[in-house]
Amino acid sequence: MRFRRLKLSGFKSFVEPAELRIEPGLTGIVGPNGCGKSNLLEAMRWVMGEGSPKSLRGGGMEDVIFAGTASRPARDFAEVSLLIEGDGAEAREREVTRRIERGAGSAYRLDGRDVRQKDVALLFADAATGAHSPALVSQGRIGAIIAAKPAERRQMLEEAAGIAGLHARRKDAEQKLRATEANLQRLDELLSDQE
Ligand code: ATP
Repeated sequence: MRFRRLKLSGFKSFVEPAELRIEPGLTGIVGPNGCGKSNLLEAMRWVMGEGSPKSLRGGGMEDVIFAGTASRPARDFAEVSLLIEGDGAEAREREVTRRIERGAGSAYRLDGRDVRQKDVALLFADAATGAHSPALVSQGRIGAIIAAKPAERRQMLEEAAGIAGLHARRKDAEQKLRATEANLQRLDELLSDQE
């Protein structure tokens, strides 16, 4: 999977609609302190389903919405879209969008259709990337990787290997199996009541 373009509007310091074209060979973004370099990376993690405000340097999820400055009022929503291109048979372009409105929470769209956070997370997990991908290295992350416990390191390796999505699907399948077993047991009870 390749990331092609990131579009932001009202996200953190990006109050005006902004677009970052991710061309082959792009290896870094430079700029003065506070110009929004980390916010771009955070927008990428956010649109891929990041659920922890702390890992986006915020106290609550709505903190990603432009909070206003002395000269500009705050915005009511933030929206980030990521255009991706798959590999092989999945080589078409797709666009994932996440939007948050004050007081209304956030919602996801894939090519304009409403989808769940889980669908977005699985789409990226299957491509060995996502909000927690070790390929997205933010400040302090190197130290965290070195200090990680074996189980955390294993999780990073599994994400890198693209099998994190399988764990999520296994959990789903186990839940369905348990629900089916409970239904079967209930059916047995009803049948024996009738005998
Ligand atoms: P550095 O090189 O110092 O790490 P940077 O280029 O990575 O800086 P960021 O940390 O991405 O910069 O951006 C910080 C800027 O974003 C600050 O000016 C901060 O005020 C602004 N900012 C963060 N959240 C919001 C928000 N919700 N509303 C408005 N501005 C915000």
